[in-house]
Amino acid sequence: MSDPASSWSRDAAQAIYETPLMDLLFRAQTVHRRNFDPNTVQTSKLLSIKTGGCAEDCAYCSQSARNGSQLSASKLIEVERVITEARKAKQGGATRFCMGAAWREPKDRDMDALVAMVEGVRALGMETCMTLGMLDDSQVLRLRDAGLDYYNHNIDTSERYYSEVITTRTFADRINTMNRVQDAGIKVCSGGILGMGEAAQDRVDMLVTLANMRPAPESVPINMLMPQEGTPLADARPIDPIEFVRAIATARILMPKSYVRLSAGRSEMSTELQAMCFFAGANSVFVGDTLLTAENPEEDSDAILFEKLGLQAETSASLS
Ligand code: SF4
Repeated sequence: MSDPASSWSRDAAQAIYETPLMDLLFRAQTVHRRNFDPNTVQTSKLLSIKTGGCAEDCAYCSQSARNGSQLSASKLIEVERVITEARKAKQGGATRFCMGAAWREPKDRDMDALVAMVEGVRALGMETCMTLGMLDDSQVLRLRDAGLDYYNHNIDTSERYYSEVITTRTFADRINTMNRVQDAGIKVCSGGILGMGEAAQDRVDMLVTLANMRPAPESVPINMLMPQEGTPLADARPIDPIEFVRAIATARILMPKSYVRLSAGRSEMSTELQAMCFFAGANSVFVGDTLLTAENPEEDSDAILFEKLGLQAETSASLS
């Protein structure tokens, strides 16, 4: 969470982003060490509880019904299946279980099942996170009362660039849901995707928006676009890896107490790039073989990576 008395200006954040890389990494690592154990990484597992057929038109997403992809729409999966998957994730060492549904917003008829999922996963002693699209006040309160720890609602990019990526909702819609969630006392997980054709200024603006929330999101996923066939961004030019590292380091400096999650796109990253991202302040990853629809490194390769870098997974006991 950021200092309530201060807020970041776009110019100050841009200056950080453009700092000579060695200085930027040193500063980010210094901030990181002040706030976290530098050799510990939080691990989350993500399960798609409803896939495909989404009414939104996010240009990066193969789950949008408007993107002409081959992904067919599924129904909301059964509560028992979710609990079984969460139990497996816990046995595999994950401390947080994230449940994602490809919806513009949940229907009220889905709420009983969603509440049962949150209660069931929490009963296993795991943190819960959901991403369900936009929420109204009563939906937020039901999820809060069920014990939902985190709500994921990415802002994706800057306000300026938003309409280049999504036209079926506005940046303000996104912020409104996040405000509702925070007002109810649920922690927010929010970040974005890099490599969608945005300028460096858009990356910085996105991070400034997040850092200036009160509080800043407790969890900040930074994704590298994994171009999906059939989507408008299928042929997007990949982001320069050093630019990606700069964004991670800037996120760490702007949001010293937030978990910065290296998210989608990790399967395309070398060990060296991931190591640089951890040094720049990333301290959370998704484990498992799928990230909704994008590939994620297999758990075994994560174990090798952690071993090589001397990293350890955060345990439930170390969560406060
Ligand atoms: S990113 Fe989410 S909201 Fe956007 S199209 Fe995909 S599933 Fe729907």
